[in-house]
Amino acid sequence: MRRKIVAGNWKLNGTVRETRRLVLALKNRLAGIDSHADVVVCPPFVSLEAAVDSARGSRILVGAQDVFWERSGAYTGGVSVEMLEAVGVRYVLIGHSERRSVFGETDEDVNRKLRRVLEGTMIPIVCVGETLEERESGLTRDVVTRQVTLAMSSVAPDQTGRIVMAYEPVWAIGTGRTATPEGANEVHVLIRGVLAGILSRSSADGIQILYGGSVKPENAAGLMSQSDVDGVLVGGASLDPAGFAEIVRAAR
Ligand code: PEP
Repeated sequence: MRRKIVAGNWKLNGTVRETRRLVLALKNRLAGIDSHADVVVCPPFVSLEAAVDSARGSRILVGAQDVFWERSGAYTGGVSVEMLEAVGVRYVLIGHSERRSVFGETDEDVNRKLRRVLEGTMIPIVCVGETLEERESGLTRDVVTRQVTLAMSSVAPDQTGRIVMAYEPVWAIGTGRTATPEGANEVHVLIRGVLAGILSRSSADGIQILYGGSVKPENAAGLMSQSDVDGVLVGGASLDPAGFAEIVRAAR
């Protein structure tokens, strides 16, 4: 049975001080919640250490929103796997649609990042998903299949047990439009099928696949009740500790 993950992507929000406040508020909210889900928050780079520190003694784990594939050197602005691990970061998002659309990240970049992260100890959350235009052109299956296949290219089979995938249809991110639970599950089943083709059926069955795109306390339980939805990646709603804690509760 796959364990559920509820991850919050805080994007470009909050100073170090606000991060501390948010983590502490979430810690308090989670104290009385009966759920076995793994809880992850992903603040901006400069707040990671403060988040790790504030989360101490709680079930909250900290993730980064991105990482670079080189270890060190002349890569202005880059942050390495080792740097993140050294401050206690446990998860890292790779290939979020905003990284792809705003920062021009390609499927090849996603693959390089994934392979580097797997050389370390962090858990990568690899994001895939189609745009509205691609969806309306009937290309969802093609786009998601391509993104998953290229992300997994040359990944060592013995390292795949640590990978988490996230299906995040771009048309649902920050728009208030959510995939229906059945619609999300259908794509998750497709992703698992693609993974089974690359790895093996049993390896694919062990990989957690999260759904992301306008997840809120009101729709989280329905999404997570689906057979292949193993948790959620939450953007906007993760900045509200009370609401995010409700989403964790929904992951029973
Ligand atoms: C996200 O940024 O990963 C996301 C899913 O955002 P939102 O929940 O705001 O749609």
